[in-house]
Amino acid sequence: MSRGKLILRSKKDQAVRRFHPWIFSNAIKSQSGEVNDGEIVEVYSNKEKFLGCGHYQQEGSISVRMLSFFNEEWNEDIIATRIKRAYQTRVKANLLRDDNNCFRLIFAEGDRLPGLIADYYAGYVVMQCHSSGMYYMRQTLADAIMKLDGVKGVYCKFASSLTKMYEDVDEPSLLAGEEFPEDLVAVENGIQFMIDWKYGQKTGFFIDQRDNRKLLGELSKGKKVLNTFCYTGGFSLYALKHGAELVHSLDSSQPALDIIDKSLELNMISSSNHKNICADAVQYIKELEVDYDMIILDPPAFAKSRHARHNAVQGYKRLNAAAMRQIKSGGIIATFSCSQVVDADLFYNTIVAAALSVEREVKVLSKLSQPADHPIGMFHPEGSYLKGLILEVI
Ligand code: SAH
Repeated sequence: MSRGKLILRSKKDQAVRRFHPWIFSNAIKSQSGEVNDGEIVEVYSNKEKFLGCGHYQQEGSISVRMLSFFNEEWNEDIIATRIKRAYQTRVKANLLRDDNNCFRLIFAEGDRLPGLIADYYAGYVVMQCHSSGMYYMRQTLADAIMKLDGVKGVYCKFASSLTKMYEDVDEPSLLAGEEFPEDLVAVENGIQFMIDWKYGQKTGFFIDQRDNRKLLGELSKGKKVLNTFCYTGGFSLYALKHGAELVHSLDSSQPALDIIDKSLELNMISSSNHKNICADAVQYIKELEVDYDMIILDPPAFAKSRHARHNAVQGYKRLNAAAMRQIKSGGIIATFSCSQVVDADLFYNTIVAAALSVEREVKVLSKLSQPADHPIGMFHPEGSYLKGLILEVI
């Protein structure tokens, strides 16, 4: 059986020549051999120059996720090597310590494993496949992850994008190692968090905000903090630990809020100055009655595709304008966007537009982004997705 071959249209090979890992469906001129969903295909230029190998995907706009380029030989061992390297990168970044055992182990393109996400929680790894190629090789991936130091088990969940594409995607399951504890606890910068690996959103926790949680925690001392889109209370626990006067955690998900109480207990943090609020963030901010010193806005990705970008920008503007209108003079707003299609410039300009609309003076105190366990491949700028601004509203 011959491996599938794809030939690209002329001029549609520039991105691959520059080691960009995505090939869009409209770049493909013709195909031959066994081109099957989730399998490896060879990619050639219009002049039949070999460009590399990648996972072919039938559905969606990205048809191939490149795993090797013309200057390296493809074989399946590359995958295990990259998994090992990804782990070493986290160790080098000093993310595996007595007081920190929670990090993103594999960040897709950033670790040259496009389509694969894996998060490490105290030795228990939750893996998410976003492409059929990674989905089909999930057992090989889990076995390779299992070989890393300290890994106790690998559980596989599937990204919603994949479950929408394929009706017969397996149920989430343990692929290697021991059963996960029901009450899984991981430590982030010395703070213990209950990880809802089974029913929670994504892999169970939003690790990408670790550095920003630490920074905002330090700024929270003596302040009244409103943490909106708080999920399981990441920013809230840091704020309380650093001596915030009061913290209100707001989310539209009651199950997420319920976990905050368990984590407070784990850390023996008194909940007397903490309150959970189950509500819509924009609505609550519009009717704000407390004079918060700090408002954190960390919404889910408003845009998942380019088509949705315009509406997303309007959503960010509305949310931020509401917070800017309501916050007291001298108050801090920490605002984030995790939409990949809204880049740092567009996000910044959107926040400027929000400030203009409320006619208040706003200063940028810090520009924030994503931590070392969410590395950005130099040839894949799209990997940079988390943006944040700390603002002072006068
Ligand atoms: N800041 C969090 C992660 C936020 S994820 C952390 O540090 O862990 C985004 C959260 O927004 C999810 O928990 C989701 O339930 C919540 N959410 C989505 N839409 C919302 C809305 N309209 N109002 C309030 N919360 C919302």
